[in-house]
Amino acid sequence: MNILNYINGNFHNPISNEWIDNYNPSNGEVYGQIPNSTKDDVENAYIAAKSAFPIWSKTTLEERSRILIKISELLEANLQRFAEAESKDNGKPISLAKAVDIPRAASNFRFFGNAITQFASESHESVGQNAINYTLRQPIGVVGCISPWNLPLYLFTWKIAPAIAAGNCVVAKPSEVTPMTAYLLGEICNEAGLTKGVLNIVHGLGGSTGQAIVEHPDIKAISFTGGTATGTHIAKVAAPMFKKLSLELGGKNPNIIFADCDYDDMLETTVRSSFANQGQICLCGSRIFVEASIYDKFKIDFVAKVKALKVGHPSEDDTNIGALVSKSHFEKVKSYITNAESEAGKILCGGNEVTLKGYEKGYYLQPTIIEVKSNSCKLNQEEIFGPVVTTMPFETEEEALELANNVKYGLSATLWTNNLKRTMRMSNDLQAGIVWVNTWMMRDLRTPFGGVKASGVGREGGFEALRFFTEAKNVCIKY
Ligand code: NAD
Repeated sequence: MNILNYINGNFHNPISNEWIDNYNPSNGEVYGQIPNSTKDDVENAYIAAKSAFPIWSKTTLEERSRILIKISELLEANLQRFAEAESKDNGKPISLAKAVDIPRAASNFRFFGNAITQFASESHESVGQNAINYTLRQPIGVVGCISPWNLPLYLFTWKIAPAIAAGNCVVAKPSEVTPMTAYLLGEICNEAGLTKGVLNIVHGLGGSTGQAIVEHPDIKAISFTGGTATGTHIAKVAAPMFKKLSLELGGKNPNIIFADCDYDDMLETTVRSSFANQGQICLCGSRIFVEASIYDKFKIDFVAKVKALKVGHPSEDDTNIGALVSKSHFEKVKSYITNAESEAGKILCGGNEVTLKGYEKGYYLQPTIIEVKSNSCKLNQEEIFGPVVTTMPFETEEEALELANNVKYGLSATLWTNNLKRTMRMSNDLQAGIVWVNTWMMRDLRTPFGGVKASGVGREGGFEALRFFTEAKNVCIKY
């Protein structure tokens, strides 16, 4: 099936008529093509967005809200179709796409459709000076949204929904590896009655289509989620134009387990936080640090649980681990496993490719646990972004904190303990944008989301996202 660009409410071939193959990771076969869009397609998308802006930015909040909520309802009504498309494009189990990806994409529209009606601005009376200040929160204009392949529709809409709720018009690009649900979203937006040109979706490669969005002098803000290297590059390109930037980048998150935790709960959740979505979630706890007194027991129990996970075809309901997203990513993840022993790592379970009958060319890997001797090895310092976690013991709280923070990333951290004072101390001192205590990936959309250090700048979620997608203008009136 061929995918088309969505510009001004209509579907278009790329101007160059050049196309890129789209692969199904479950069997390694090409199943469609996507536009290899150029600067000219991005320019057309920009023109459509610019033309829609005067209308959309003056559309009442009630009307914007109504349309966003309608998009949410239509996504829910099309759950099965979207989940099948996401699973086929990405390789993730259909059960995950149905339970998480598509419902959360729908929630993004519902949440920001409601949030915009509650987005209050400040006023300050200058007492004794007969003056009052009030702050206008004005939409920026045309903004760019660029998203990765791991949670395709979920992260694409996590940007688009607040951007349009706040009154902006958007030029967006999903990952070239997983374009399908973004393509289907265009139809839903038309059905919901979204003003033409408010959302424009151009497909293509990062270095050309994505780069053209970032380089466009009149696209005033870029909301980007992806790798740290790409984020660094985007920051350099955007800096001379003084663009507003929100960068959600890589992670290498610690999962710190103390002996006083609720052990069974920790074990169940740690299996999920290690291997959900084949470990391809920026929030996965890929470095597991365990208090020495329970380390041997943890290893035995964790390995047993992980060995019981089913690596299978994404369309089967009981599959726990589907296919990795692409051949190149599969090779990259495998290379870390191949080099594990030269880094003094010991593979406790997994470590091999899986060949599924009938899908021999699919990108399947066993969930893999590697015991490491030191936190300084590549396995612990580089983002692998696959079904591979490391584990090592620690003796004291201070040592656990040092291990957790000693990495260039700072996206999330998970802490397992029932000691309140330790919880408070460590939550304060962990270098991360998000700390989960006795849980993982529990998300309330009102809360700030983002990282520190090489995991990015800026925050998404709740009013933080609406602040990003608006300019604050102060008006001071003397009376
Ligand atoms: P990526 O950086 O390769 O690509 C992300 C997006 O950027 C894609 O749409 C790509 O086409 C585009 N892109 C690439 N080069 C570009 C350029 N020069 N200009 C503009 N756009 C460009 O990342 P990926 O491999 O798709 O995704 C995996 C990465 O995303 C991992 O590092 C993961 O940790 C990160 N991620 C972070 C979060 C978060 O919230 N912090 C969430 C999910 C994924």
